[in-house]
Amino acid sequence: MSVEEKIKTLRAELALHNHKYYVLDAPVISDYEFDQLLINLQELEQANPQFFDPNSPTQRVGGTVTKNFVTVQHDHRMYSLDNSYSKEDLLDWEVRLLKVIQQPLSFMCELKYDGASISLTYENGLLLRAVTRGDGIQGDEVTANIRTIKSIPLKVAAPSNERFDIRGEIIMTKSGFEALNEKRRALGEEEFKNPRNTASGSLKLQNSAEVAKRPLSCLLYSIQGANWPIETQKDMLHQARNMGFKVPSEARLAKNMDEVLAFIDYWEKHRHELPYEIDGVVIKVNELAHQNILGHTAKAPRWAMAYKYKAEEATTLLNQVVYQVGRTGAITPVAELEPVDLAGTVVKRASLHNADQIEKLDLHFGDTVVVEKGGEIIPKITAVKIGLRPDGAVPVGFIDQCPECGSALVRLAGEAQHYCLNEQNCPPQISGRIQHFISRKAMDIDGLGEETVTLMVKKGLIHDFADLFTLKVEDIVPLERMGEKSAQNLVQGVQESIRQPYSKVLFALGIRHVGETVAQKLTQAFPNIELLRRATEAELVAVDDIGLKIAQSLLNYFENDENWYRIKRLRAYGCQFETQNDVEQKVQSRVLEGMTFVVSGVFQNLSREEVKALIIAHSGIIVGSISGKTSYVLAGDQMGPSKRQKAEKLGIPIISEEDFFKMIAPNP
Ligand code: AMP
Ligand code: ZN
Repeated sequence: MSVEEKIKTLRAELALHNHKYYVLDAPVISDYEFDQLLINLQELEQANPQFFDPNSPTQRVGGTVTKNFVTVQHDHRMYSLDNSYSKEDLLDWEVRLLKVIQQPLSFMCELKYDGASISLTYENGLLLRAVTRGDGIQGDEVTANIRTIKSIPLKVAAPSNERFDIRGEIIMTKSGFEALNEKRRALGEEEFKNPRNTASGSLKLQNSAEVAKRPLSCLLYSIQGANWPIETQKDMLHQARNMGFKVPSEARLAKNMDEVLAFIDYWEKHRHELPYEIDGVVIKVNELAHQNILGHTAKAPRWAMAYKYKAEEATTLLNQVVYQVGRTGAITPVAELEPVDLAGTVVKRASLHNADQIEKLDLHFGDTVVVEKGGEIIPKITAVKIGLRPDGAVPVGFIDQCPECGSALVRLAGEAQHYCLNEQNCPPQISGRIQHFISRKAMDIDGLGEETVTLMVKKGLIHDFADLFTLKVEDIVPLERMGEKSAQNLVQGVQESIRQPYSKVLFALGIRHVGETVAQKLTQAFPNIELLRRATEAELVAVDDIGLKIAQSLLNYFENDENWYRIKRLRAYGCQFETQNDVEQKVQSRVLEGMTFVVSGVFQNLSREEVKALIIAHSGIIVGSISGKTSYVLAGDQMGPSKRQKAEKLGIPIISEEDFFKMIAPNP
């Protein structure tokens, strides 16, 4: 295969995996394998710049900086939609339609994705440009940014090579939005308000590499200017999906207005189960022939109608403010409300986030407040009706002592949150840390519910998560609700958790500001916990996505001897504190299989880490201390005298660096 063919094959393969991952949500290879393919392609492209292609999957990472976005004319005007808010509005609309069409109509019902509209132009099957809606006649060209959105195909198998437009909405999923905000919180950056503003703001970022980091997606709903046959709106969606675009599958064909109304009702109740936000539904006359007859008004098509869901707000009274203590000691104020119905659920509590938020709202006890529900996130107070405030109402202050343990609360410079620093003895922090440790994304230990954890802490059975590894079935059985079988499951679950990789273990430790992604970044940069512990502030912030705040938190964490002691215990129980990925990649031979080594002293040719890596690469096992089971002590210079004595006493052979090299040298 020529280099050019190799490059082309890799590009096609990667495009296919992008489609499986980002469009179909059904990846068939691991992220690791994907990255390997991408790295291969990057290397080939760098070595052979003559084959550069802006549509290569390697270009998805962005890097183009746009100072001013160019205004361009749309090939096909981007209309707005007429809005309706009631069933009567829709019935009126149907009457207007029937006057023109004079035969029963079927309707395509789609969700109204809440994001920023975009028009993508393809020519010769390639993405040519992407333009925002603007005023509908002309918009801003944001192609460089749009290229980084991986659910948008850069190449499509269109029925014709001629130019066509496809319309859609750039959105951020709710989970992507939450994860992005978690990252920003950790970096001490201001959080984004909602997925929609974040998505539309992202389109106008000047550096496309920044856009590439945002979890954006694009949901498509309309093809314009196609010169191949499309008969109906339903067919249009089907064709768009077949070409490789992300077209949500919730759309339904309604045979009549009753079915349209049922669709609207269904999604009004279930909209929060969707991975992205919608602000209503869009109803479209299904036959394109009918659409053509109906045409447009100055502003919007006559054949389509948006039905907007009401903003999910309610007004109620603030009774009390209580304070919750999280596992990191962070204090969250929570408003207790006069129960009120909000979008079908009774709301009694709302988060107030922090002291700043209370101040910003100028909240007083007895205030009438507006609560809003967004997605699965717990409701929040968005406004106070100052006019309804009772005379003499007392402003809501903030507590200065931990409601659980009485310690003085501290607010660190630059942080919005108050903290209880009594980490070791504040009960909700103790059980919170254990719960975090066993959670699915951390050590994933089954069979241990929240109540059991609290109970075990209360009974003094465990004080921190390292104690979990010392639990015996007979200790647990006497606990309420614990049978022999579940106790066994629990002990087994704990033992099995030692297989969790280093990054999950690091996340499980619950170090402040070290979330899942940060833990991954750290374990990549510092492949074992010793290296991480010894890292300086400068070395830490040199890592992608690690800011000063995270670095400071890590330094504080490792400064505390108790934390390090706990890690040593976990390591002794078998938990992983080094990356296995590299090791698995580099298994070179099995000559050391079944042998255990203790490594001690300073070596001539290699660092200790390198020596250890070699042992693992040749399938040997490294242990921390000498015992009767040790196969060899691998000694460099300055090996401790007590170790030497112990080895000699137990008759364990002491070998040198040279001996070791002979052992692993390939047979002549
Ligand atoms: P409006 O912004 O209220 O005028 O509503 C029109 C906008 O709704 C369009 O520009 C699209 O960006 C957006 N929209 C979201 N989902 C759909 C959909 N399924 N069909 C048509 N437009 C949609
Ligand atoms: Zn406390």
